Amino acid sequence: MKVKISNKIGIAEILILPIIKNGHIHLNLSKNTKNQINNALQTKDFTGDEDETLMIYDENPSKRILLVGLGNKKDLNSLNYRQAGGNARNALKKIKAASVEIAMEQKYLWPFLEAFLLAGYKFNKYKTDIDKDKHNIQDIYILNESKDLKDLQQELEEITQNCQMMDYVRDMVNAPAEEMSPSELVAQAQKVANLSTNIKLKVLDQKKLKKLGLNAIYTVGKSGKSGSYLILLEYKYQTKNKNPYSFIGKGISFDTGGLHLKPRDNISDMHLDMAGAATVLGLFHKLALNKIPGYFLGVIATAENAIGPDAYHPNDIIKTYSGKTVEIKNTDAEGRLVLCDAISYSNKHYKPACIIDIATLTGAATVSVGDEITPFTSNNSDLTKKLLSAAKKTDDLFWQLPLEKFHIKATKGKNADLTNFTKHMPGQVIMGAAFLANFIADNTPWLHLDIASTSWQDRKILSYIPEGGTGVPLLTLIELVKKLG
Ligand SMILES: [Zn+2]
Repeated sequence: MKVKISNKIGIAEILILPIIKNGHIHLNLSKNTKNQINNALQTKDFTGDEDETLMIYDENPSKRILLVGLGNKKDLNSLNYRQAGGNARNALKKIKAASVEIAMEQKYLWPFLEAFLLAGYKFNKYKTDIDKDKHNIQDIYILNESKDLKDLQQELEEITQNCQMMDYVRDMVNAPAEEMSPSELVAQAQKVANLSTNIKLKVLDQKKLKKLGLNAIYTVGKSGKSGSYLILLEYKYQTKNKNPYSFIGKGISFDTGGLHLKPRDNISDMHLDMAGAATVLGLFHKLALNKIPGYFLGVIATAENAIGPDAYHPNDIIKTYSGKTVEIKNTDAEGRLVLCDAISYSNKHYKPACIIDIATLTGAATVSVGDEITPFTSNNSDLTKKLLSAAKKTDDLFWQLPLEKFHIKATKGKNADLTNFTKHMPGQVIMGAAFLANFIADNTPWLHLDIASTSWQDRKILSYIPEGGTGVPLLTLIELVKKLG
């Protein structure tokens, strides 16, 4: 699919026309077309309200116009345009058309087009009966009247590339566990590293992890057939920074819950538990292609939390890479175990300027703020501001939860330094963060993003976010690295 600039209307088969409620159309259209649109407005078949779309047919049978509602003028914002972009794409899903052209104000082109591209995603790798003529838009033309062509061209390339990275993450998250194993995540990291001479890859396998004392990652993965890995992607380009910004992703390829086995309803989609790792891979893929200046470290802690003769037990005590011991009170709280070693390894060998961990850490993330908002904790207001400012461009939603000293104190263990699960403490999103806080070096700015709710959707709520793997919050992280670098 290609996104191109056009200076005249009528090149494509379908003209997409976003319309504000009770708004006017300023485009130079034929009298007949204008009449048709006016008829739709007069009959109120289409009013321009949010979530409305209407296809109008021209005299020429191959030419069509898709009207897309934006809602009231006074409520217009970037999210309205994003929602409308997704609605437009969804309305075309059953239509055979190879080309579309979009006529709209440039100010909101970014969210509209991004959502239009994102809504086209389908995980149909395993489907053999797809109608290839449908869902197959080849060319998207952006009608441009005023903007500097070079700027617009660059913008379109950036949007297209970002959406490709989102689809790359979605594909990995949707892939069955058998396909996206820890060793496959290593292979993906290798592919990303091969894209750029600015990336160095280092992989610690199960043997190395044991030898070096990364026992938390080692222990979680020892019952899985591909073992555990710590993957390190070090990216450096045009920067004098001595310390990297460290992005750490949880990569549990399948989470059975271990001997604290998950109930039947909760286990089905647990191949999603590597979404944090996939997000880090997506981010470094973007860095490799786009050469964003900066020094960034991607750390992926990957393992399968399987059941087998080697599975770790409740009440086992593990000595983590930091030297701190942890008693296992819940084998399903494995994410924080693999992450704590990843954080400690990153501290010791790279002394990061900040740590951002991205993890499907707790089912409680959904309970805390719902499926569309990523709850997070942080010890640093500057980093928090940067995250929220990055999110303004992407319309990803975040909500900060508190993390107090008493939360961290509550992670103290009875027979070991720490416990990985504190049954008597509600607020499990915070308790996941509280456990990790024990491993963050003093004064290192830190963001903990619990993406258990937002990286996967059971039902479609926003028009441009599909069911299954969503790719969220990759777009925001891409904006964030630009602010950090
Ligand atoms: Zn778990």
